[in-house]
Amino acid sequence: MIDKGYPPEYDNDHYDNTYFAEAFPDADSPAELYRQVYKYTDCGAYLSMTIEYMEVSGTCFDDYHEQIVQKTLHSDESRHLGTWKEMDERGQLIVSFTVGSIVEGVDGGTDNIEVEAKQLDETPSEYRSRFYAALLEIEIQAHSIWNETHGCETCAKHLGIDLTEEMSPVWTECPDCNGNGMVI
Ligand SMILES: [Zn+2]
Repeated sequence: MIDKGYPPEYDNDHYDNTYFAEAFPDADSPAELYRQVYKYTDCGAYLSMTIEYMEVSGTCFDDYHEQIVQKTLHSDESRHLGTWKEMDERGQLIVSFTVGSIVEGVDGGTDNIEVEAKQLDETPSEYRSRFYAALLEIEIQAHSIWNETHGCETCAKHLGIDLTEEMSPVWTECPDCNGNGMVI
């Protein structure tokens, strides 16, 4: 960081994506973070990100206008952002990451949990902890939705549920699906 002679708290320029590079040292870009999130969660969680940047409109003095705008990108769209460093060079800053998951065969899914960055108040590793706590919560929710709805025929029979009428919870002792349920 360049020493400007005053504490960095007074300078918004120090907000940059280095913070996320430090929070997620195994991922050099938002796209790589998404790949890891998808791959290493049982539910195949998705990852959205809200970015902030300065939008300049107008070309001459009279109508020249700058404003900070936000935009949300979903999962695969993150590849357009490039690396953390490239985002810094373009003046794009991550404001938050949001995690969630759909559950196959069921309408709706888990909550979306947004983990906002607090660059002034939290170290990168504290942010990382909150991020992974949110991801764990998504895994638990996805697992619970699965167990409420993905019972097989034997689960349904045991629990007295008519599968043509409704979905069956998973019977944990089921000898047919071994308490794993089935894909519906
Ligand atoms: Zn079963």
